[in-house]
Amino acid sequence: MTDASSLGFGYRPTPWRWQAEWRDGSWSEGELLSEPTITLEEGSCALHYGQQCFEGLKAYPSAEGEPRLFRPDQNAARMARSAARLLMPELPEELFLRGVNACVHANRALLPKPGSGGTLYVRPLLIGVGDNLGLRPAPRYLFRVFCSPVGPYFKDGLSGIRLVVSDQDRVAPRGTGSYKVGGNYAGGLLLHKQAKEAGFDELLYLDAYERKWIDEAGSANVFGILPTEPPTFVTPESAAILPSITMKSLLTVAADEGLTVERRKVHVDEIGSFREMGLTGTATVITPVESVTRDGVETTLPGGAPGPITRQIYTALTELQHGRRADPRGWSVSVVDPAAQTV
Ligand SMILES: *Cc1c(COP(=O)(O)O)cnc(C)c1O
Repeated sequence: MTDASSLGFGYRPTPWRWQAEWRDGSWSEGELLSEPTITLEEGSCALHYGQQCFEGLKAYPSAEGEPRLFRPDQNAARMARSAARLLMPELPEELFLRGVNACVHANRALLPKPGSGGTLYVRPLLIGVGDNLGLRPAPRYLFRVFCSPVGPYFKDGLSGIRLVVSDQDRVAPRGTGSYKVGGNYAGGLLLHKQAKEAGFDELLYLDAYERKWIDEAGSANVFGILPTEPPTFVTPESAAILPSITMKSLLTVAADEGLTVERRKVHVDEIGSFREMGLTGTATVITPVESVTRDGVETTLPGGAPGPITRQIYTALTELQHGRRADPRGWSVSVVDPAAQTV
């Protein structure tokens, strides 16, 4: 087992990765590989035209130290949707789950200890490869799944960050923002660097058309807590947002915890009414927001970062993810030994 306290959120190669190849109209069986590199044609469409999509999920250690996945069927469905949007071959749910299970099972010795806050982060990716020069879909595709042990995102528990509203846009209103495709991300690197240099931790993007509705952060969805009775958990609705599985789960968890939940357009001025605010995604689960700065004016969230509601839903969700809480919806699933599966 890996000692999670020394781990950050970075790439550490593990002994095994899993790969299947699509050619001539069908997928190969898929196999475990030890080589952490990929050799591909210089004309590959993934390199030139961004014909690439990816996923991110985690294997969480149960109390017994066994890996558990959280709603991996949702990642399979989202990747299939991304693939279809980029004219990549259909990726069956069965193939996706087989790859994820095989990769986690093969590397299970590196799963961080229960209670450490560490997990095995799993990164499935689908890339268009093979010689190509003109702008057309690739002749072959690789579906690869690798994983990396990661520590708790925040070593000292939850801690708050300072957001700044970006004056540039992440994606277009009718573009590819709702798909997890690599092409959406490189453009944000410079903006993120500039925000860091200005003393902020993360960017908040507005809708690119009217520039007054909240979309999301660079790689996490956004929620706010309104001081109603019971408190309201609100998250923006927008066609340009990446549909976060963590957010989808939090909406259910927040309702279970007795909060009112709303998914609707959220005006950026509404931040002034929030008691608490947070970002959410697989990597951090929840990142509490301490303040939001827009046009040089900083608004501090009065309920704390994290505040009590954020803590409550964070605890509820992380216990579910680790299989430590009654799970009537069957969201937490054990990892299957592929060798034990009958074909
Ligand atoms: C992956 C991602 C998220 C978070 O999605 P999860 O399924 O919760 O991990 C949010 N926003 C963007 C832009 C993302 O790429």
